[in-house]
Amino acid sequence: MVTFTELKLIEQLTRAVKEEGYTSPTPIQEQSIPHLLEGRDLLGCAQTGTGKTAAFVLPILQRLWIKKKVTSRGTPRVLILAPTRELAAQIGESIRCYGKYLRFTSTVIFGGVGQFPQVKALRQGVDIVVATPGRLLDLLNQGHVRLSEIEVFVLDEADRMLDMGFIRDIKKIILKLPPRRQSLFFSATLSSEVIALARTLVHDPIHVTIEPEKPTVERIEQSVYFVDKGNKDALLTKLLRDAVVKRAIVFTQMKHIANDVAAMLNHNGIRADAIHGNKSQGARTAALDGFRRGKIRVLVATDIAARGIDIDDITHIFNYELPNDPETYIHRIGRTARAGAKGLAISFCSAPERDSLRAIERLIRLHLPVVRDPSFHSDSAMSATGMAARPPPKGRGGRGGWENRGGRSSSSPRSGSSGFSERRGGSSSRSGGYRGSSSAHSGSSGHRGSSAPRSSSGGYGGHRDSSSSHGHGSGGYRR
Ligand code: AMP
Repeated sequence: MVTFTELKLIEQLTRAVKEEGYTSPTPIQEQSIPHLLEGRDLLGCAQTGTGKTAAFVLPILQRLWIKKKVTSRGTPRVLILAPTRELAAQIGESIRCYGKYLRFTSTVIFGGVGQFPQVKALRQGVDIVVATPGRLLDLLNQGHVRLSEIEVFVLDEADRMLDMGFIRDIKKIILKLPPRRQSLFFSATLSSEVIALARTLVHDPIHVTIEPEKPTVERIEQSVYFVDKGNKDALLTKLLRDAVVKRAIVFTQMKHIANDVAAMLNHNGIRADAIHGNKSQGARTAALDGFRRGKIRVLVATDIAARGIDIDDITHIFNYELPNDPETYIHRIGRTARAGAKGLAISFCSAPERDSLRAIERLIRLHLPVVRDPSFHSDSAMSATGMAARPPPKGRGGRGGWENRGGRSSSSPRSGSSGFSERRGGSSSRSGGYRGSSSAHSGSSGHRGSSAPRSSSGGYGGHRDSSSSHGHGSGGYRR
């Protein structure tokens, strides 16, 4: 087994990773670090969870260290672009963690918060800037930051950036980079659009592809309720009242539905908070802190906002709405059953989501056990086929897409919850592939507070009984 020292990392870095509990490099680290130390460009096809942050942060820190230089105000040496504030913040945290024995300064720049502290940090001079594209562009345009001294540029989660509509911002930023630089490009998927963008960035890159592994679904007890959309609130409330649910994430497709569901739960006496892209950074951090510390038992989240959240001890995942992309289902349920614990993933399926469920079942190669609660069970949802099993075509009923249908109409009266703010905004939060983990993580803990052993075992075990009714095995809901 290769060690970090064999990868020719300096002692200050090997010491830092050792203190994180990393015993050996993950495959992406093993394959990338030696080339990145030589200054090569990189085209990496890998997902979050593979250890890719350390794969680029460690060699970047080492190269800065070897070629020491005093940075002047507002001219960083390294720029890392990330699609979301959460990811940017986590990369910033990784830099501080891995670089704790080196004295580099770094700052994280993202929108949704006042720019003053970010401008102040830039003015003091920082070596490394981690940023989301929009706010960085604002600060560039205001002259608070210059990219003329950038030695290393990292574009992380490029596919997600494109999904989120950042392409124009990214192109503008790239134009401001000096031509002589090291460029690293990461994407979970390599569509032709992603490859076209990569071509404008990397030169003679090394290619690293890390296949995602399946999460440890054998420890996740999955089930589905067929329920009409108008009954989802009542069903969720009922299930969350069970003390078995210690810490749960409820996934919705749309931001405004996340808000509504959280408001509805609070109204019904269940402490919940929503986290999604329209929330201010302060509100997101507060929600996450509350959740982490157990003050809030239920976090209602959209896929994008939930990305990168690494919290152990999540006992339950609820898919209030099923994702259109079946891989997102796997990604969602992988939030539970961490650190060797068991977890439950409970999905609600209404008629227009029936085909989404079929796609999920095809992907995971099993039929989810059905829980038939007499008060909620909908035969029409269960047996929906054809047009009834799909979201209505785009363009019908306002903002289009099934998300509107899957949720509730803003004008529909809601049981005991009239007056909740209905916030419609932003684009659909499509979440791409499952961010799997790599086998080489096994048994070591992550610096994000996760001590989840990363299992190398793929495969989907478990529940083959699609006809089960009235609750499911241990820890389930029996009625
Ligand atoms: P990333 O793919 O960068 O988001 O990393 C996923 C998780 O793996 C993080 O919690 C890291 O702390 C952890 N990690 C990174 N490298 C290693 C390693 N070599 N051994 C164990 N865990 C690691």
